[in-house]
Amino acid sequence: MKILMLLLALLVSSVQATEYEEVSVEVEAQNLIGNAYYVPGMSGAATEYEGFISNAGFVVTSDGVVVFDALGTPSLANAMLSEIRKITDQPIKIVVMSHYHADHIYGLQVFKDEGAQIWAPKGTWDYLDSEIAENLLDSRRDLLFPWVNDETYLVKPDRIIDQDTKFSLGEHQFLISYFGKVHSDGDMSLLSVTDQTLYSGDIIFEGRIPFVGDADIIKWAKTLDRVRKIRVGYFVPGHGVASDQPKQTMDLTYRYLNFLLDKLSVAVEEMNPFGEVYEAIDWSEFEDEPAFEAANRKNAYAVYLYLERVLD
Ligand SMILES: [Zn+2]
Repeated sequence: MKILMLLLALLVSSVQATEYEEVSVEVEAQNLIGNAYYVPGMSGAATEYEGFISNAGFVVTSDGVVVFDALGTPSLANAMLSEIRKITDQPIKIVVMSHYHADHIYGLQVFKDEGAQIWAPKGTWDYLDSEIAENLLDSRRDLLFPWVNDETYLVKPDRIIDQDTKFSLGEHQFLISYFGKVHSDGDMSLLSVTDQTLYSGDIIFEGRIPFVGDADIIKWAKTLDRVRKIRVGYFVPGHGVASDQPKQTMDLTYRYLNFLLDKLSVAVEEMNPFGEVYEAIDWSEFEDEPAFEAANRKNAYAVYLYLERVLD
C-alpha cells in the first residue's frame, strides 16, 4: 500500500510538472517538404483564438528537433509539442527565436523544460529588460487566462545571435540570417538549407496588414529587398499561410511598407500635418485587407513620426 501511495504521489507530481491548460483551438502541424513543418496560427488580433495568432515551425533531424518560435501561450506550445511527438521522439535541441514579442515567446518554457537551448537575436535583452515586457505579460495573464497565468514566465535566451550563423544538426544544414532592429528590437530568420524552407518571423505578415509598431521601417524595407533574393522552396511567414510561392507570400508586406514609406516621406518633407496627410492618401489598394481598420492609421502615424526623426 505504501509503495502504491508513493507511486501515486510520483505520478501526480510528474503530471503536475507538465500540466498546461488545454486549448480548444486546433493546433496542427503541417508538413511542408522533407522534414520541415509548421503550425499555422489563425489570423486575428493578439488575444483572439486563445492567443493562437502567430506561426511556429520545426525541422526534424536524425539528431534532434530544431524549433522556430514558441507561440503565444505555454498551452499552445504544449499542443505543438504533442504534434511534434506524433512525428518523432527526438529531443528538442534548439529553439531559434525570430524575435521577442509576446505572441511568439510565451510558449518558450515548454521547450526549455524539454532541455532545448534558446537562441535569440541581439536586442532580445532590450525587450526583456524593458517595463513593456513585464506589463504586457501581466495584461496577458488577464486577457489570455487560463492559458497565460501566474506560472507563465519570460524565458531568457541561452545564446544571443548577432550575425548570420550557419549550423548543422544531424544531416541538416541551417542558416540563421540576423537582420538587426527591423520589426522589433532584434529580428532573424531561419533557413533549413536541406529542405529549402525559410521561416521568416514577423518581417513578413501574409494575408493581413502588418503590425508596424516601433519598427525601423527603412531598415525593414531594405531587409525585404535582401530576403526577396534568397532562393527558397517554401516560405513560412510570421503570420499567415506558408507557400511555395515566396514572392507572393511576401507581396503584401513588401508593397505596404514601400507604400507607407513613399507616401509619408513626401508628406514629412513638405511638413504637412499628419491628419491632413492621412485623409489625402488613397488607401484603396489596402483597405480591404484584414486588420486594415485596426492597424493602418496607427501604422501610418508611427511611420510619420519615425520619418520626422530620421529625415531631419
Ligand atoms: Zn507576431
